[in-house]
Amino acid sequence: MTQHHLVAGGGGFVGSHLVDLLVGRGDKVTIVDNFVTGRRSNVAHLADNKSVTVVEHDITTPLPTSITNDAYDVVLDLASPASPNDFKTMPLQILAVGSTGTRNLLDLALARNARFFLASTSEVYGDPLVHPQPETYWGNVSPIGPRSCYDEAKRFSEALAMAYHRTNGVAVRIARIFNTYGERMRPRDGRVGNSFVTQALRNEPLTLHGDGSQTRSFCHVADEVRGLAAVLDGHLTGPINVGNPDEFTIRELAEVVIELTGSKSSIARVALPAEREGDPLQRCPDISLVRDSYGWEPTISLRDGLSRMIDWFRTKEDLG
Ligand code: NAD
Ligand code: UDP
Repeated sequence: MTQHHLVAGGGGFVGSHLVDLLVGRGDKVTIVDNFVTGRRSNVAHLADNKSVTVVEHDITTPLPTSITNDAYDVVLDLASPASPNDFKTMPLQILAVGSTGTRNLLDLALARNARFFLASTSEVYGDPLVHPQPETYWGNVSPIGPRSCYDEAKRFSEALAMAYHRTNGVAVRIARIFNTYGERMRPRDGRVGNSFVTQALRNEPLTLHGDGSQTRSFCHVADEVRGLAAVLDGHLTGPINVGNPDEFTIRELAEVVIELTGSKSSIARVALPAEREGDPLQRCPDISLVRDSYGWEPTISLRDGLSRMIDWFRTKEDLG
């Protein structure tokens, strides 16, 4: 049966890929996005699709009647700036979207008797003292550091969603997304995969923060959105980790990007920027829950995913 999804943040990187998946299976989608970090080009290919509507709106302000008058089966919350660069430039907007924005969407889900899906993050684990991170780990998060606007906003979003679930009976699904990369990332938003690919394609030095021994576990966006859909459709409230457990140091990532692009770039060690104070030393998802419950696991290796991303950046982005 065709379902109607309201996708907040559907003009962003992950959101637009998830919209493609939903539209591809025959669902109707209304995107609400203020394009603060998203791009209209991410959804331009859907402009003539009668199943897709785009409403430009900031979800921290009351939702317009063009949205609230409609019926939805699912309300999805993927609206939030997510790059550490944004933590420096728009901390108040991030706190607002994770509190008032999420609440506006929860109120709509409650009014429409819709399921509510929250795109949470591995950042709720902070600089983790347990490795890999299972959902049962409560995290090691600074409440006042430069990352706190994002980490605490997401922790608050989770708490809010659980309160609506417990108090009002809203059917909630929470996915904790680990580092995701791929096509449609913005070249200069400061996250590592897109920064390194952009720098390599320009033959500029790759900016390695510190000695590059910190680790991340990178999931290609095509795998990621399949996992998010499994959580969305599934029976568990969560939270549920969705990520790729293959863990790499950031220096390894830099070396692979240089190799795959055939770049003349060097690797330049730079000091950790101030907004990255508290940069997690390691991060890797324990995906037992999503694997055992839904049979989801990633299938795209880092090399294959990076190759797809590099091809896309070569042809679609003006990197001059
Ligand atoms: P993104 O910046 O590309 O997408 C976020 C989208 O939300 C953008 O289109 C932006 O314009 C929109 N938005 C932000 N504030 C808004 C507001 N007030 N009103 C309406 N729209 C607003 O980032 P992304 O990487 O696609 O992240 C999507 C979601 O997934 C975010 O909630 C993020 O926290 C979460 N997440 C992403 C990653 C990752 O590695 N990409 C990891 C963990 C969690
Ligand atoms: N990083 C880096 N050079 C860059 C951008 C990021 O070395 O130009 C590092 C960053 O310090 C962090 C890792 O890469 O240790 C992942 O950064 P990203 O912003 O992609 O994700 P997050 O820190 O939110 O996991």
